[in-house]
Amino acid sequence: MSDFFIIGNPPIEIYLRKNSQAKRYSLRISNKDNKVSLTLPRWSNLREAREFAQSQEGWMRKHLAQQLKPIIVHYGQHILLDGKKILIQHGSEKAVSVINGELFVSGSEDELSGKLRAFYKTLARERLMTSSDYFAKLLGCKIKSITLRDTTTRWGSCTTNGSLMYSWRLMMAPRKVQNYVAAHEVCHLIEMNHSPNYWKLVESVVPTYKADRSWLKLNGNLLHQYKL
Ligand SMILES: [Zn+2]
Repeated sequence: MSDFFIIGNPPIEIYLRKNSQAKRYSLRISNKDNKVSLTLPRWSNLREAREFAQSQEGWMRKHLAQQLKPIIVHYGQHILLDGKKILIQHGSEKAVSVINGELFVSGSEDELSGKLRAFYKTLARERLMTSSDYFAKLLGCKIKSITLRDTTTRWGSCTTNGSLMYSWRLMMAPRKVQNYVAAHEVCHLIEMNHSPNYWKLVESVVPTYKADRSWLKLNGNLLHQYKL
C-alpha cells in the first residue's frame, strides 16, 4: 500500500498510517500544517480506506477551509485555474499565457498579483460573456451588460433589466462551474427567485447543476484565499 492517495477536485492528499491497535478508520487534520492523515486498522484495505475518505470529503473541506491562510502569489508557486493547480512561471512575453499546463507571466514579483488579476478578469469577461450569451439565446432573453467584480459573498448577481455581475475569481473554478453560474444568473432574468420552477429551468439548461453548485459550496473559499 502506498503511503498516500488523493481524492476530489481540487485534490486533497491523504496520508496513510497503519496502526494495528486501531479498531476503525479515522481521519485527522493537523493544526500545524493541514496535513490530512487516515489511520488504518490492521484489517484495512485501500478500497475501503478510499471510500471512507470520500464519505468524509465534505467534513475535510470544511475543516481545511476554516484553516485557510491568505496566499501571496510568487513565481514558482501554484494558483488555481479552471479547477486545477497551475504553476506560475516567469515568462518573457508581455501577455500572460498558458503553455503546456503552466502559467507564464512576465515582470517582477511586485507586479505579479496585478498581472494575474488582470488575466483572470480578461478571461472571465471572455468566457462569461460567451456562456451568458449562449444561455440568453437558448432561453430567449436579453442581456444588457456584464460587469466583473471581486465579490466576497456571491459569485454572480443580476438585475431585472438584464445587467449581470460575476466574480472574476470563478475562473479558478472548473469550467463546468463557471458555466453553471452563468446559467444561474441568466435563468434569473426569467425567474427572479429561487423557487422550484426556477431550479427546474436551471436544470433544463445545465442538467448537472447540483454537482456544480455543491462544488462552489465546498470549495468556494479556496478561490478567495489568493491575494490578488
Ligand atoms: Zn440565484
